Amino acid sequence: MDPVGVAAAPDAGPGPAWQSKCPWGAPNTTSISCSLADVMSEQLAKELQLEEENAAFPEAVAVAEGPFITGENIDTSSDLMLAQMLQMEFDREYDAQLRREEKKINGDSKVSISFENYRKVHPYDSDSSEDEVDWQDTRHDPYRADKPTTTPRKGFIGKGKDITTKHDEVVCGRKNTARMENFAPEFQVGDGIGMDLKLSNQVFNALKQHAYSEERRSARLHEKKEHSTAEKAVDPKTRLLLYKMVNAGMLETITGCISTGKESVVFHAYGGKSATEDKVIPPECAIKVFKTTLNEFKNRDKYIKDDYRFKDRFSKLNPRKIIRMWAEKEMHNLTRMQNAGIPCPQVVILKKHVLVMSFIGQDQVPAPKLKDVTLSSEDMKKAYYQILNMMQQLYKECNLVHADLSEYNMLWHDGKVWLIDVSQSVEPTHPHGLEFLFRDCRNVSQFFQKGGVAEALNERELFNAVSGLNITAENEVDFQAEIEALEKMNEDHVQNHGKKLSMFSSDGDPPIYDE
Ligand code: ADP
Ligand code: MN
Repeated sequence: MDPVGVAAAPDAGPGPAWQSKCPWGAPNTTSISCSLADVMSEQLAKELQLEEENAAFPEAVAVAEGPFITGENIDTSSDLMLAQMLQMEFDREYDAQLRREEKKINGDSKVSISFENYRKVHPYDSDSSEDEVDWQDTRHDPYRADKPTTTPRKGFIGKGKDITTKHDEVVCGRKNTARMENFAPEFQVGDGIGMDLKLSNQVFNALKQHAYSEERRSARLHEKKEHSTAEKAVDPKTRLLLYKMVNAGMLETITGCISTGKESVVFHAYGGKSATEDKVIPPECAIKVFKTTLNEFKNRDKYIKDDYRFKDRFSKLNPRKIIRMWAEKEMHNLTRMQNAGIPCPQVVILKKHVLVMSFIGQDQVPAPKLKDVTLSSEDMKKAYYQILNMMQQLYKECNLVHADLSEYNMLWHDGKVWLIDVSQSVEPTHPHGLEFLFRDCRNVSQFFQKGGVAEALNERELFNAVSGLNITAENEVDFQAEIEALEKMNEDHVQNHGKKLSMFSSDGDPPIYDE
């Protein structure tokens, strides 16, 4: 592949007369002042060259920063510096052009396409110290395929007194220029290849290393971005939806991600102005984006499939629509809770799988979860009674069972407990509604009993207190069995009176549980 040591010098004319007569005579007539081993030693040559160049231009690299040739007293005799400056100037021009194109395409639109990834001069990022290391040490470069370096069979070309070693300035320079083509395809080498440009080994190597480290730097930036979007699970369609909200002025800015769960990602945003006068957008909002990666939702089927409110629709829906239904459910449930006066986020707007609600917290800091906050024993007791109250209200006034109630979904804010995360909440008549309630009671009871609230009811007492049922079973197993029997009874009721159930499809309807 690499013709080093094989190809003849491009401008080598026809050889002298003796050449055709005696091709073997050459070594005798030419005196080489050093051993062949030394000629072969690229390392030595490099060192000598380095020494030479350092002596001639001691601060070449240091001057490379800054604007392109500013003063007359800057010595530009160094190839390295010149090349670096040219490259930098080229990169800047390239980026400027890119910016012009970006501007042309985007115009005044708030939704814009960024060409940033294609820029040559990358903004300073925290990894740059790493890059400095890269520059010096590329031996263990994980990004670079291990290519064996070609060693010429002999360290020279030509014959007789026209012998040219591979260190010859002219030959080597031209070859180096040609080899620039082998840099990463994205690396702009300009039209130097077409010109009779000669690069010294030093310049070539520096450029090569620069090309590689830029390539890696660029790859890292790409990677970072892709990673971050993957992490936040915001696909382009969702991003567009969010941008539209900002564009419409409904949201001022989306500041960042508060939480990434298995099923949703929550962002913080500052509220903007509402299009309609009657609705006020809270100063701070939480945006819950339900993940459109479907697999996580499969295990939630049981919540929604058996929820009669969604029964008719479920079978006809594609998975994307089912995810929208989770968002819709959360919205409806929050509205019910709001109407009952339970502290919870207030719904601002629902768009597809994106739910905007008021933010529980302040100045971008979300209120802590109950599991993360240390409360005084007085506050702990207060929190317990508040939750007992909320569970009863939820059941009786909202006709809902939270179904994922625990210290993870309760926030402590403004001296009280706020309920969140109600997309999976169901009505008590759901085929597993009472089991879900019992599980909620167990979580709450255990949390407060462990938290030292002596008054905290045990899970069975709590279940009865919330549901108004009077299950008398003394132990957990029997209790559970009675719950399931009740559920079965209710299910039969639903089966027999199925037709009547359509009247419960709107929110706020009375419970249908038959005691
Ligand atoms: P998930 O299903 O991922 O658990 P959640 O609704 O529980 O979704 O939200 C995840 C986290 O995001 C919560 O634990 C809470 O820290 C934060 N969060 C959600 N909604 C709000 C809100 N309205 N205000 C403040 N923080 C919120
Ligand atoms: Mn949660």
